[in-house]
Amino acid sequence: VFVSFEGGDGAGKSTQARLLAAWAQAHGREVVLTREPGGTTLGQTLREAVLHGEHVDPRTEALLYATDRAHHVASLVRPALARGALVITDRYLDSSVAYQGSGRDLGADEVERLSLWATGGLLPAVTVLLDVDPAVGRTRLTGSPDRLESAGDEFHRRTRQAFLDRAATDPDRWLVLDGTADPDALATAVRSRVAPLLGL
Ligand code: C5P
Repeated sequence: VFVSFEGGDGAGKSTQARLLAAWAQAHGREVVLTREPGGTTLGQTLREAVLHGEHVDPRTEALLYATDRAHHVASLVRPALARGALVITDRYLDSSVAYQGSGRDLGADEVERLSLWATGGLLPAVTVLLDVDPAVGRTRLTGSPDRLESAGDEFHRRTRQAFLDRAATDPDRWLVLDGTADPDALATAVRSRVAPLLGL
């Protein structure tokens, strides 16, 4: 079973991904908890390059994310799914559609096609969108800001809206939650969506 967490910076994705992983492990399931960009060794290099390296144009940026994703899916995600593991990823292709497609103006449809090509069409069974106002998300960030975190308000508003619009088109896959809600309440909501897929 493949589950992704999406949303803006500081939305609580990593926390909720960890809580879901711990819960499934406690029920005896094999869990692979991973992230994009940077879920593999090559991915770490690509993450460093795209977030802290030389400035690149939007198409190059989109291809770097797509490269990270193609390798992540082929080398880690698909083999784990084939073993029957629960794979939980902190960001997946919907981040590219929102950030590179809408945020960077490359076009959501084109970036979606690129992303689906990169992954051989692999979509999560469940995608949890933790929705937060970018201004609120920013106050919850720790550590040094990387390039995107310091991008303009307008960019982050476009990205947030892109996630919401995309979620509305496929309610079977998406679970949209208010990222400012109590973390335990959010974790419960996520579990109730995922539990039946794990036979729990
Ligand atoms: O969520 P995480 O901290 O891993 O994301 C790193 C940065 O990369 C964030 O600022 C995020 O907005 C950005 N990002 C992006 N396009 C993606 C994935 C992440 O711009 N496809």
